Amino acid sequence: MDKRETLESLNPKGGEKTTEERIYVIQEHHATHLHWDLRLEMDGILKSWAVPKEPPKEAGLRRLAVPVEDHPIEYASFHGVISEGQYGAGEVKLWDKGTYEPVSVKEDKIVFNLNGEKLKGEYCLVKTNFQGKESWLFFKTKK
Ligand code: MN
Repeated sequence: MDKRETLESLNPKGGEKTTEERIYVIQEHHATHLHWDLRLEMDGILKSWAVPKEPPKEAGLRRLAVPVEDHPIEYASFHGVISEGQYGAGEVKLWDKGTYEPVSVKEDKIVFNLNGEKLKGEYCLVKTNFQGKESWLFFKTKK
């Protein structure tokens, strides 16, 4: 999928703020390595990033967020155990859920307001390179 197309189509027209709410979820995934799967509804799917450390509730901490495959919207409510031998085997817990509103969406930077139970306020995903691979940084903005 062309990520640029997907992201740019999300931009509010003329760069205005939108009040449209979309699904936001973070699943705590006890796979081979514990991580948190951040998922944001975009264009009818869940864009997903794997965050190796607990997502930050306060500004000042930046977390690596590695893009992983899109998931269907229905997956937002999934929790339970993925069986041995299946991809991502291990327990999945809903760590946080709610909605988000995009503030600005660019190919390399997404700013959004989270209305979760744990994470609230303005957050940012910024594309970077980590060890030569596409990755993003996820953090709460200082506002
Ligand atoms: Mn995962």
